[in-house]
Amino acid sequence: MSCKGLRVIKFPVHSKNFINNPGERLVNVTTQSPFRMTSQRQVILRELKKVNIHPTADDIYVMVRKIIPHVSLGTVYRNLEILSDMGVVQKLECAGNQRRYDGNPERHHHIRCIECGSVADVSPDMVTAFDFSPERIPSWHVVDHRVVFLGVCTACQAKEGGDLKA
Ligand SMILES: [Zn+2]
Ligand SMILES: [Zn+2]
Repeated sequence: MSCKGLRVIKFPVHSKNFINNPGERLVNVTTQSPFRMTSQRQVILRELKKVNIHPTADDIYVMVRKIIPHVSLGTVYRNLEILSDMGVVQKLECAGNQRRYDGNPERHHHIRCIECGSVADVSPDMVTAFDFSPERIPSWHVVDHRVVFLGVCTACQAKEGGDLKA
């Protein structure tokens, strides 16, 4: 999905944080509620989409600072949250202790390295055997699910001298 040429993307406001944040430029919160795709957000989104490493906010800050030298880490954090609320960025809640972001908003699964914490994509087509129905969790109202695989990445396997393959 490309946001090139888009100035304003309209999404329903569903984040209390966003409404309560007076620092953000909001237009007609009560009626149309468009989240503005500001030029700063465009840069963050573009840089995030360039990589598939699912970077942390700190990583994205380093990337964005090359283009907007005076941007602050707080601004990058805040804009990542807004881009996530807009649905153009995925926030990976299951990515270990550091929150990571994904420039691909489409539904897909992830695999996380238990050694170095790196995260890679797993296409939904590769998870055909996963069988789940929400009724199996009685008393909960299930709204969504995420599958996170754990493993040891290629680089970490190489570091361990191929012990795992023995
Ligand atoms: Zn690893
Ligand atoms: Zn991903």
